Parts: sequence; C-alpha cells; structure tokens
Amino acid sequence: MQPSKRLERIPPYLFAELEKKIADKKAAGIDVISLGIGDPDTPTPANVVEAGQRALADPGTHQYPSNRGREEFRRAIADFYARRFGVSLDPETEVMPAIGAKECIFNLNLAFLDPGDVALASDPGYPVYTGGPLLVGAEPVLLPLLPERQFTPDLGAIPADKLAKAKLTFLNYPNNPTGAIVPDGFFAEVVEFAKANDLLVVHDASYTETAYDGYRPPSFLETPGAKDVGVEVFSLSKGYNMTGWRAAAIVGNAEAIATYWRLKTNIDSGNFEAVQLAAVEALSPATDAAVEQMNAIYQRRRDLVCDALAEIGVNVSRPKATIYIWAPVPAGFESAAAYCAHVLEESAVVISPGGAYGASGEGFFRISLTTPDERLTEAVDRLRSTLAK
Ligand SMILES: *Cc1c(COP(=O)(O)O)cnc(C)c1O
Repeated sequence: MQPSKRLERIPPYLFAELEKKIADKKAAGIDVISLGIGDPDTPTPANVVEAGQRALADPGTHQYPSNRGREEFRRAIADFYARRFGVSLDPETEVMPAIGAKECIFNLNLAFLDPGDVALASDPGYPVYTGGPLLVGAEPVLLPLLPERQFTPDLGAIPADKLAKAKLTFLNYPNNPTGAIVPDGFFAEVVEFAKANDLLVVHDASYTETAYDGYRPPSFLETPGAKDVGVEVFSLSKGYNMTGWRAAAIVGNAEAIATYWRLKTNIDSGNFEAVQLAAVEALSPATDAAVEQMNAIYQRRRDLVCDALAEIGVNVSRPKATIYIWAPVPAGFESAAAYCAHVLEESAVVISPGGAYGASGEGFFRISLTTPDERLTEAVDRLRSTLAK
C-alpha cells in the first residue's frame, strides 16, 4: 500500500521521539506531567453546554446543515464582531461557519492554491500553514518570527521570485507558539503589502479572547482596507473551552468566503446545527464573565510559571495573551529538543521543543498553561528543585 506523493511531502512528526521517551517513563511507573498540549482543561461554560443540550434535543437540528450555516449563527458572529471589535460584517455574505479553524485553514489552501503556487507561512506557526500548502502540491515559504522583530515577519525580506508566486499569507496574533501580540501598525503594513502583491491574507484569530493585564487583542478586520485583502478565521476552541465542539467561523472578504463555500459544498456538509446554536450562546454577553474567569486562571498560572522559570535562570517576558509561554533554551544545550529531553529526564515534566513549530522556533521551548492548577504547581516545584542553579 503506497500513500500518495502529496502525503509523503509532509515532514515526519517531530514529537515522535519525545513521545517515545514519555511512554518509556510512564511504563517505568514515573508520574509524568505534560505541559505540552494547548487544550483548555476546564469545561465549556455551563450556559453554553445548556444551550447545546437544548439544541441537541430539538429535531430541527438533526438533518443536514447547510454549508452557509444557520442565520442565527451568522448573525451572532456579526453581532459579536460589532460589539467586541467595532467591525461591521454582513451576515449574508461576510460570515460562514467552519468546522474548526483547522478545517477552514486547510480548505483555504485547497480553494486557492495550484501546484507551483506559494503560500507565505508564519514560522514558527500552526502546522497547517505549511502542511496545507504541501498537501495541495503548492510550496510553503517561511516567514521567520523572531524576538528582535517582536515576532512579526520582515515582509521586505521575502525573495522576489517566491513573492511573485505567492497567493496566500498565514498570520496569527495573538500568536501560537510565541505568545506575541501584534505591534501597533503591523496589520496596516500587511494590508498595504497584500494590496501591492495581490495576496489573500488569512488571519488566524484563535486567541483574541484569551488575554491578560487588561489587554484586548484586535481583529485584523479592524484595520482599514483589511476586508479588501483578507479573511479572518475566528475559533471558539481556546477562548471558550470548546476544542471538542469544532466551532469556528470565517469572516471578511465576501469573494474569498464564496470561494471557500464553493469548495466546501464538495467536501463536507457543514457544522452540526446544535454546535452552531451553542456557539450563538457562547458569543453572547452571557458568557463574558466565564471567559474573564478563565483568563484570570491562566494569568495566575502564567505568573506561577514565569516566576519559576526566572528562578531556574530562564528569562522570559510575560505574554499578554494566549495560553503559552515561549522561552529561550538556556545556554549549554545543543538544541531545544536536547533541553526538553533534559527537563523530562530530570523532572518528568514535558515541555515542547520550539523546532517542532518550524525552523525559526529552534532555540526556544513552549509551555502550555492548560494543565490543572495542582498539577501545574507540582510541575513548577519539580522544575525549581531539579533545575535550580
Ligand atoms: C488551536 C489552534 C487552531 C485550531 O483551532 P480549531 O478551531 O480547534 O481547529 C488553529 N490555529 C491556531 C494558531 C491554534 O493554536
């Protein structure tokens, strides 16, 4: 049995070796704590679950959904964007549901790229920004995100021959894995750049609702001209503890959304309508307090982890958003993977090597804040006692 050539183009899974080491430790009876995965550990807010239960019991949700989505869903997204970002969206043409941001981002590759085309992909970044182009026979060209540029790409540094073939650009702020927020003026620079180079910008808005210290992350669509050149993929997964539900929306440029719709009518049959109705509840002001509570939990965890890292000699800046700490690997280790293996060996705590998120992630490691408080405290104590200088 031979997998397709396009599947063979996907690089090997970079966590494979780490996962084997973890499995070996667990088999030896060692209590391993994972700070590796970004998946909220607290449940979906109760009002959202209840709305989902009511919708689930209604036979009106049991038939095929349409790819365009229910009117209530499209209107709820538009109302939320107006209330939260001051962005006006036409629920008829500028909003569509997606079966999670992952589905949407992948299918945008299929909708817009031909073999030989290029997609510009934030590096480090969410794996679909590179896996998507590869799976459709196109070429991902990496946009390095480095601390000296506040984790924004240097748009002027993209090779001209690659830029000429580029059709899509994948950006993401607040950013996974770096925890960076968008600096003032960067989105405006992106709009100009996209106009000048005839690019569709795909802004991944997975973390706009997960922020600290009073910071309110913007939508890309707040930027003048953004709707002419881009779409935003808004996910409810992280901000509303809904990773299992598969609830997201694509918003912005109507022509791009119509193209995505045309593709999807050939691939899937839309989001379960009970999930769409639960999302309507999630986006209503009734859920604001629960989101604030979750953010207070993450902010406390962030401080716990950053304080412990400082004590073991790792200097990190406290992220203002996302559920991740992105920290430099201490001197004396040949790679991020080597450091993560060392931490696992010494303290039985799993952290992720930055190189797993792209070449420019080398030299960093990522800690996720989605571990229950008592386990996170235990992990932090272990780091302190086994790695303290
Ligand atoms: C978690 C994550 C996603 C996936 O979101 P879903 O809506 O659950 O598919 C997409 N992009 C980034 C940057 C993420 O961190």
